[in-house]
Amino acid sequence: MINIEKNKSLKGYNTFGFNQRAEYYAEVSTDDQLSEIVAYAKAKSWPVFILGGGSNIVLTQDIAGLVIRMVGTQVNRAPNTGEAGELITVAAGKNWHELVLETLQMSLPGLENLSLIPGTVGAAPVQNIGAYGVEIKDRVTRVHALHIPSGEWLDFSREDCAFAYRHSFFKDKPNQYAITEVEFNLGTQCATNPSYTSLAEHLSTRGLSNPTAVEISQSVIAIRESRLPDPNVLGNAGSFFHNPVVPADLAQSLKLRYPGLVTFDAGPERVKLSAAWMIDQLGYKGLSRGGVGVYHQQALVLTHNGGGNGCALLALAEEIMAEVAATFGVQLSIEPKIV
Ligand SMILES: Cc1cc2nc3c(=O)[nH]c(=O)nc-3n(C[C@H](O)[C@H](O)[C@H](O)COP(=O)(O)OP(=O)(O)OC[C@H]3O[C@@H](n4cnc5c(N)ncnc54)[C@H](O)[C@@H]3O)c2cc1C
Repeated sequence: MINIEKNKSLKGYNTFGFNQRAEYYAEVSTDDQLSEIVAYAKAKSWPVFILGGGSNIVLTQDIAGLVIRMVGTQVNRAPNTGEAGELITVAAGKNWHELVLETLQMSLPGLENLSLIPGTVGAAPVQNIGAYGVEIKDRVTRVHALHIPSGEWLDFSREDCAFAYRHSFFKDKPNQYAITEVEFNLGTQCATNPSYTSLAEHLSTRGLSNPTAVEISQSVIAIRESRLPDPNVLGNAGSFFHNPVVPADLAQSLKLRYPGLVTFDAGPERVKLSAAWMIDQLGYKGLSRGGVGVYHQQALVLTHNGGGNGCALLALAEEIMAEVAATFGVQLSIEPKIV
């Protein structure tokens, strides 16, 4: 019998710490339990919302219907497949960073650049999490999910997932698919990737020219701890805006007007602009207003400073987007899901 709680506070279940409520709330750890609770919600005509670690959502209101959190954490390692790497299947409720550390302990490289990203394994394919030059699209081989409207169980190959920058097939279909298991191919075929600029610099200060996967993980953790606020201390969802990718000629004309503009190559005739640089130029870094604000060390991170709510945060985000558009002619987009 699955326990369903009523009028549940979600304050401890989102990394902003916003105090919105779920009309109904349940935790499940197996596929059978998920099928059962989804069928029950359907019979009651409750909408369903799938919640992971709450590190990529902004709660602006209470959630009507049933919030389901997957809490299974099992990790299964397939028999060694040699040069082709090793397949591990992981339940959706597993904490992402714990998985990274455990795979490194198993001497399976592949996830080290993604150390210390908050959240769960089940949510990781939704936005194709990425950091320091690696995205999980490079490591995922299969995603197992329930199609909520039909109750059908499906397996998605990497191609089916249609991964793109912070995006996937699942991101366009919120609450239609509940991911319960993700399969990764890790091990010898995953060449370590220490080349991302800030990572390479950190490794070099440690005197590591040919770092191991564990050493890369240690550097990523150190960099992240020095740059990003710990959500347990200061509510946030990491980067709040995507870095916009624009045509090269637009980037060039902006660079003439703003020589300090920070840019990155983004393929043929495309340039990625630093959203943080633009927000910083507009004087928002360190701003605190109505219980929310912009992190004093990184303008891309919006924060809950205490006593604020999701609506105040969203209003601040929209103001920043309008100012960036008016000044630089560039449209920012929001990374977390607004609920
Ligand atoms: C300090 C900080 C740093 C961060 N750094 C990074 C970073 O470097 N790179 C990066 O990519 N992200 C980063 N993030 C964002 C976040 O950690 C990731 O997006 C993470 O994958 C979200 O996982 P979650 O379990 O918290 O998802 P949630 O926030 O709970 O959910 C996010 C979305 O996924 C859906 N979802 C959740 N679980 C499932 C499931 N099992 N099945 C189907 N849908 C599901 C939800 O409905 C929601 O739409 C950061 C966040 C913070 C707070």
